[in-house]
Amino acid sequence: MRIEPRQPQAVDFQARMARKQRNNEGWYRPAEIPLCPLCERPIPASQSDDHHLVPRVKGGKETSELHRICHRQIHALFSEAELAQQYSTVEALLLVPAIQKFVAWVKSKPVEFCDGAKLSNRLRR
Ligand SMILES: [Zn+2]
Ligand SMILES: [Zn+2]
Repeated sequence: MRIEPRQPQAVDFQARMARKQRNNEGWYRPAEIPLCPLCERPIPASQSDDHHLVPRVKGGKETSELHRICHRQIHALFSEAELAQQYSTVEALLLVPAIQKFVAWVKSKPVEFCDGAKLSNRLRR
């Protein structure tokens, strides 16, 4: 008679999945598609925008590639001066509740999503 040892397989599986997601390798992602640092979704070429982390008028040179919609959201919330002084990193932006709310919302949308699609999405309901 064989006694099967009890194995916490479900727990193992979850731990493995969590590790995979942390490494960002859990899904197929072509190398040439960049990820948006704000919402962490891939950026299709049609939605790509360069954001100056420190506004150009303030002497900033470093840019970060974002979705057009994410980029627009940042500029809708903050002035150039605020961006230069307080929000010159993506990390700082992500601490802002309004940005967190936006990211949570935009993550539920297709990566091609932009303002133009918002209207038709509403009409469909
Ligand atoms: Zn910008
Ligand atoms: Zn984005």
